Amino acid sequence: MTKLAAAILVHSIDQALEAAGRAASLGADLVEYRIDLFADDPGAVEDLIGCSPLPCIITCRPTWEGGQYDGDDRDRISMLEASVLGEHQPTYLDIELAAFQRSFNLRQKVGLMVDHPAQVRPVETGLILSSHDFEQRPMDLLQRVEAMAASTTCRVIKIVWMAKSLRDNLEAFEILQGQYKPTIALCMGEAGLPSRVLAKKFGAMLSFAAIDGDEATAPGQPTLTQMKKLYRWDAINAQTKVYGVIGHPVAHSASPAIHNGGFDATDFDGVYLPMPIAPSYEAFKATVGAWLDMTDLHFRGASVTIPHKQNLIQFVREQGGEVEELAQKIGAANTLTVRDDGSLFASNTDYAGALDAVVESLGIERHELADFRVAVIGAGGAARSIVAGFAHYGATVTVYNRTREKAQLLADELGCGDGKIIAASLETLCESVSQVFINCTPLGMHPHVDQSPIEPTHFGKNWGPGTVVFDTVYNPRFTKLIKDAREAGCVTIDGTQMFIRQAAAQFELWTGTDAPLAEFEKILLSELG
Ligand code: NAP
Repeated sequence: MTKLAAAILVHSIDQALEAAGRAASLGADLVEYRIDLFADDPGAVEDLIGCSPLPCIITCRPTWEGGQYDGDDRDRISMLEASVLGEHQPTYLDIELAAFQRSFNLRQKVGLMVDHPAQVRPVETGLILSSHDFEQRPMDLLQRVEAMAASTTCRVIKIVWMAKSLRDNLEAFEILQGQYKPTIALCMGEAGLPSRVLAKKFGAMLSFAAIDGDEATAPGQPTLTQMKKLYRWDAINAQTKVYGVIGHPVAHSASPAIHNGGFDATDFDGVYLPMPIAPSYEAFKATVGAWLDMTDLHFRGASVTIPHKQNLIQFVREQGGEVEELAQKIGAANTLTVRDDGSLFASNTDYAGALDAVVESLGIERHELADFRVAVIGAGGAARSIVAGFAHYGATVTVYNRTREKAQLLADELGCGDGKIIAASLETLCESVSQVFINCTPLGMHPHVDQSPIEPTHFGKNWGPGTVVFDTVYNPRFTKLIKDAREAGCVTIDGTQMFIRQAAAQFELWTGTDAPLAEFEKILLSELG
């Protein structure tokens, strides 16, 4: 079973033991004591091993391998001999492959400290041979793995490199699949997160996590709490289906918390990850194509956001998949679903989220929107989906935009001459006789919280009780527009309602079950603080 290890940079015995105690209470199975800065006191290291609340790895990482020990190898190995061969032995000792390969003397000494087939001394410590590249995938990556696999002294192979793209993770998974020895294969950096979370899916010997956010010992290392709670570590197994949010950037997306929370609440065997992909069609196609090709990964779908919403349509079309008619018309899709037969489906749940938020607050069905006049403020990406959705269900939509020409362009493209979409300039909004107003501009969004697309004085003239005011902005939840509209007695819908409903529609496509909406709302509100 793959273990979850917390790495601790040792400054003092008390600090390291306190940290190890916290790691144990947060669910770590193992700790790695990084004694890089504590290498001059082997007696204290022996005490640390003896008092450790969890089985431990002892590592004294030199500066030339990304650590902080700047002494020479002879002193380092002598110190390790003195600390690990005492009464209390660590479970593992980590030595860099490069040091192991270049010195016969070091190999001999390490051979005396660890358990291996030719060992005659009563030692139980296993040797982890490790190799790290903090810049990129090393050219000789596979040769390094082969060298570790070939060493009879080595019990565990550890290979770590900086991921340049999500595709690096796939090679880490292939290394895990190809080894008969316990193996750790991890990618660093934001793009390497899948290798850390999915290490368990591919039977790695362990994955590392930090105790706190500021205690990470490698770039991109999540915390123990993130691994356990956000990324569902305990639930992950070889069959777990993988989903994610594809975009650039995606680091601050609330979607992983929402979907993983939904998987938890419904006991669905899935995990949802941030998936940063560089902003080009080539990068999207190469990455998504490679993730789909690796069948054991069980990559089953993704939320797709800026700048890849058009790329998703092109990709799915090229792969012979199906593109939802309305997504095609909008020219943007935000959801990739991989069906059971492997075929791809691209759809747009942004419009569905907005439609459902409005019809639910009106207590009507979508087709009853035909009797409604809807004012959409803005003519960008969000407006495009919403205008298409409401027009599709028969509403008369007027697009009010600062740049009127863009509103006209949108009306011409989406209207197809049926007269249901009308373009107007933003200045004429106050004359509108619409029953539903939807803000699709960023006005009012943090930090410009005192802005609003509608002057408060306009409320109360044509608009008041019965008028629906919907702000797609969800940060803050209650924008100036929402507050002014409430004061005027309007029915209000805040942006979180659209967000959770578009996520719910994705969840339903992927899992075939109803999304736990109340749970989604609770998670989003806590993410927004
Ligand atoms: P976008 O493509 O950049 O479009 C922005 C639109 O807002 C444009 O029409 C622009 O007018 C208008 N605009 C920008 N600044 C303005 C200003 N100072 N005064 C008047 N109009 C202004 O952005 P988007 O992707 O559509 O996103 C818009 C907003 O929708 C976001 O801020 C986000 O909060 C919200 N959103 C919410 C959800 C959700 O799930 N709740 C989902 C997606 C988006 P011009 O054409 O004149 O430049």
